[in-house]
Amino acid sequence: MANSLENRQYFPAFAELPIVDEFLDPNYYMEVAGGGILPTKTWCFFAEIMDDSLSQMPEFFNRCEVRDITGETCSVLFGNDAGVFDFRELRVGVSLFVRYACKCYFSDLATQVLKVDDLSMAKVIAAPPDLLLGLSQYYYGDRGRCAGCRQALPAAGGLSWCPGCSAAAYCRDDCMQRHAREHRDHCHLCSELSSVLSIDFDRFVEPVPFR
Ligand SMILES: [Zn+2]
Ligand SMILES: [Zn+2]
Repeated sequence: MANSLENRQYFPAFAELPIVDEFLDPNYYMEVAGGGILPTKTWCFFAEIMDDSLSQMPEFFNRCEVRDITGETCSVLFGNDAGVFDFRELRVGVSLFVRYACKCYFSDLATQVLKVDDLSMAKVIAAPPDLLLGLSQYYYGDRGRCAGCRQALPAAGGLSWCPGCSAAAYCRDDCMQRHAREHRDHCHLCSELSSVLSIDFDRFVEPVPFR
């Protein structure tokens, strides 16, 4: 399944996320020479926005409530330390993606929340996670198959790629044309998913922002 939203190694649920300052979770971080700490990979939390009434927190935070792929709900607090983000995109029913997401304790010291300090690590795709999971599975999870006829794609050469998203691969133009009507509604979402999925998750060189 490689780079697919179902892959929990890369797309962990809220319960599986590392906790800031708690302990060094070897699933996510390693110590490097000189005492620094670096991620071992790139991971991305994604969830559906359930409440977009961005209650303005005292001080600097915007806030929304989300539900992850396991059904667990949590709060997301946005800082404004770095990066740009259009908060108007946070609407009920859309999907929020946060790279290198970490949990921390809310000021009541009991509730875990997700805090986004670097806004360039957050991205919204205007569709619910269920739909994106399906598209991810169809177009990215099984890249060896034609998006039209679902036959195994030839190993190299002669493929037709959708020019709109470069995510849908077809064994021949004929398949692309026959699939065009079905693909049309999802083409822009496939292209958005590309920016989430088309990176090297296993290797960390430096943080990969969405913008
Ligand atoms: Zn085909
Ligand atoms: Zn397309």
